[in-house]
Amino acid sequence: MDYYCLRCKKIVELTTNYQGIRCPYCGYRALKKERPEVVVKKVKAE
Ligand SMILES: [Zn+2]
Repeated sequence: MDYYCLRCKKIVELTTNYQGIRCPYCGYRALKKERPEVVVKKVKAE
């Protein structure tokens, strides 16, 4: 699961070894889960 920093808007990949949720770029401690790309393909099977 990828997160993005609410401050610098950079994508932060959190690993299992990651200690605490913090942006490695700016040090901001508010990361938000990246919105999953909802790919809705409506294919008309006609
Ligand atoms: Zn940041």
